[in-house]
Amino acid sequence: MINQERIKNLLLELVQIDSVSREERDVAERIKKICEELGAEVEFDDAGSKVGGNTGNVIARFPGTLPQAEAIMMSAHMDTVVPGRGVRPIVEGDRIRTDGSTVLGGDDKSGCAVVIETIRCLQEQSIPHAPIDAVFSICEEVGLLGAKYLDMSKVRARYGLVFDSDDPGFLFTKGPSANHFEFKIYGLESHAGVAPEQGISAIKIAAEAIAAMKLGRIDDETTANIGVIRGGEATNIITNFVTLLGEARSLDEDKLNAQTEHMIKCLEDAAARYEVTVDGVTTRGRVEPNVSREYYAMDVPEDSRVVRLVKQAGARMGLKVETMASGGGCDANIFNKRGIECANLGTGMRAIHTVKEWLDVKDMYASAEMTLEIMRLNGETATNKG
Ligand SMILES: [Zn+2]
Repeated sequence: MINQERIKNLLLELVQIDSVSREERDVAERIKKICEELGAEVEFDDAGSKVGGNTGNVIARFPGTLPQAEAIMMSAHMDTVVPGRGVRPIVEGDRIRTDGSTVLGGDDKSGCAVVIETIRCLQEQSIPHAPIDAVFSICEEVGLLGAKYLDMSKVRARYGLVFDSDDPGFLFTKGPSANHFEFKIYGLESHAGVAPEQGISAIKIAAEAIAAMKLGRIDDETTANIGVIRGGEATNIITNFVTLLGEARSLDEDKLNAQTEHMIKCLEDAAARYEVTVDGVTTRGRVEPNVSREYYAMDVPEDSRVVRLVKQAGARMGLKVETMASGGGCDANIFNKRGIECANLGTGMRAIHTVKEWLDVKDMYASAEMTLEIMRLNGETATNKG
């Protein structure tokens, strides 16, 4: 059994240490100290300097009690979204929420707490276990940057778990690929009252293009969004420049490409409808699409070591763990791409990325119980093999 009071108190402590993305230093130092007290060799990598943050990822290597066994990773991210400074958690029965002025940061301090509580229990209860690499990442919320720049030479494990989703009954094994878009739309500036026929409105091009786009849920595997629109100076100027920021995601690479091309075509078609000639010089509406790959899809097979481990551990506890596809990306997308086969297990976080965020502590306890069983089973399997 895990120690419910202890994991709850750890969570409450961690959420009160500010750690918005790129400012995770204080929570990183706290986690480092805890892990060192538990006997880990702890290092910060240099990811922080690469992303403009004040700390790197924390990598805590625990020796385990089965030195011949292969190391397993447990990972959670330390950063939170904004507004995330000065969190005042309020405990109401089994729910922890905030005063409504900040997020809670249960995303992903609950994951950090699950990792640490599991290790404490393994040691306290003398449960034979494999070496553990606990990876506490930075900057997950701003493009999975900590995972992207994780110093892999400091990590022994090549399989494991990320703890960064809601329901502990679900194991996310599939996640989408995502493209990030910056669309620059160029028109032609002119006085809106004196010479409107000599201008091309970038706002109109943007409006027509967006109106023609399929956005939102495209199909059961694909989504798309325009999230930011910027442009314009004054009502009496025909605006010559607009920037749109957007994204598309899909579990299927071909569908992602098709959606990306569709969005660009809508912009190009709208721009092509506008052309003016002033003093013999012809100007056309123009679009400059910048597409960047945010992350790649993950697809962990049902018969992979980690999925089998989680399902067997669940079965031993009388719980059915379902594998699921997520619409979001997380560090696991990056870790899988970088050679650590891992899936994402829930921790009880709810209504994340809003000031209404709350945590179901019963779910967090269940997640830690499950993780303890996973590590116990992993140790047994390793022993049997040895
Ligand atoms: Zn998260």
